[in-house]
Amino acid sequence: MDISNWLTHSKSATWTDAEMAQSLNQHAIGMATSSIIRELRQVPPECPNCGSPHLEPEHGENNEAPGVLWERPRCAHCGWGGRPVPILDLEEGQPIITREGEESDECTREAVIRVRAAKVWD
Ligand SMILES: [Zn+2]
Repeated sequence: MDISNWLTHSKSATWTDAEMAQSLNQHAIGMATSSIIRELRQVPPECPNCGSPHLEPEHGENNEAPGVLWERPRCAHCGWGGRPVPILDLEEGQPIITREGEESDECTREAVIRVRAAKVWD
């Protein structure tokens, strides 16, 4: 990020500049994480049937594989449904896609997305 790079080397940077840089970095990491999760959950940018951008998450369970919560994109306009992907192990209460890494105030931070092996419902 340009502002962080400038901040690291600038002799005129203030505390406010540092706070702004940290806030921008957090926002960027959040946006990237959200984008990766959408990709992992196979959410298209718009409905492939009618082109509507209004896709909402629909949750459900599969009787043949109990204990797992599934999610798929559902079009609010035409009712199109995408391919379900497993998102939560209900027995363990653990999300199948999780964020790992320590929350800290340090300048560097690693956000790791962990994907547990799971059967895909066909
Ligand atoms: Zn649609």
